[in-house]
Amino acid sequence: MNARLPTEATLPPLAAAKWREERVIHHWHWTPQLVSFRITRDPAFHFVPGRYARLGLADAAGEVVWRPFSMVSAAHDDFLEFLVVLVAGGEFSRRMAELKVGDTVLMEKPSFGFLTLDQLAPGETLWMFASGTGLGPFMSILRDQVPWRAYKHLVLVHSVRHAQDLAYRRDIVAIRDAHAEIGLGADLRYFPVVTREAEPRTLSARIPQLIEDGRLESAAGIPLESGNSRAMVCGNPELAKDMRSLLKARGFATSRRGAPGQMAFEKYW
Ligand SMILES: Cc1cc2nc3c(=O)[nH]c(=O)nc-3n(C[C@H](O)[C@H](O)[C@H](O)COP(=O)(O)OP(=O)(O)OC[C@H]3O[C@@H](n4cnc5c(N)ncnc54)[C@H](O)[C@@H]3O)c2cc1C
Repeated sequence: MNARLPTEATLPPLAAAKWREERVIHHWHWTPQLVSFRITRDPAFHFVPGRYARLGLADAAGEVVWRPFSMVSAAHDDFLEFLVVLVAGGEFSRRMAELKVGDTVLMEKPSFGFLTLDQLAPGETLWMFASGTGLGPFMSILRDQVPWRAYKHLVLVHSVRHAQDLAYRRDIVAIRDAHAEIGLGADLRYFPVVTREAEPRTLSARIPQLIEDGRLESAAGIPLESGNSRAMVCGNPELAKDMRSLLKARGFATSRRGAPGQMAFEKYW
């Protein structure tokens, strides 16, 4: 699709000031439904890892569909990268499936969200729980120096249905090994979880179940407790709901009135 810009007639008068026009510079498929893409980045756009942007794709008539997407790229990269699932019947997904290098993507000027490290009180272990494309903000966080210096242990748990959905698997291992080689700061324990097929060296149940039956903590060798652990959860709303009650029962709380807490969430729908 050669995404055309909306015309004056299709936009409210002030809207033009709220967004910028960026271009697709690279995109690739992990599976037919799972895509990563990069767009140009305005040097004036700044974000804290964990936040999301609002992206717009116009149709041929100039009508724009806007959706939020978490940044996957590092805060210092000179491009912006996103990980997107193409949902059957979804309007943005339909347009996204046709996107080519050089096409226009609209982007609102601010970044948004609270899945950021400043929402959490200091701790020893940062647990990052992601389902599907919910991995995205954790990639951005791990590409930053802050968590490696602020924590002793980083634990990344990425749950997907099929092994082929384990996007960025090699990148995660490379980031982990690069930090291990330097020997400074936190270590990273990465747990891919595949729920719908048998996959060697992966856990294979829903994340809340792996916590409740003790398998995850035993594999990580670290207890998930509110004294020293901080938790971030991103993706599927059912995971967020189950994790919220599970963590709450263990004494975790979200930040309140500016006071950092022990857990933070981002739900994708
Ligand atoms: C704060 C925030 C950040 C988000 N970041 C991302 C991101 O980084 N990557 C991403 O792929 N999506 C992300 N989403 C979801 C995204 O904004 C769109 O909803 C999604 O791309 C589908 O858009 P659509 O118009 O095609 O379908 P929609 O009409 O928006 O959604 C249709 C249905 O698809 C399902 N769905 C939506 N998003 C997902 C998803 N990510 N994985 C599985 N099923 C889904 C839900 O059942 C939803 O009801 C985010 C959502 C929020 C609220």
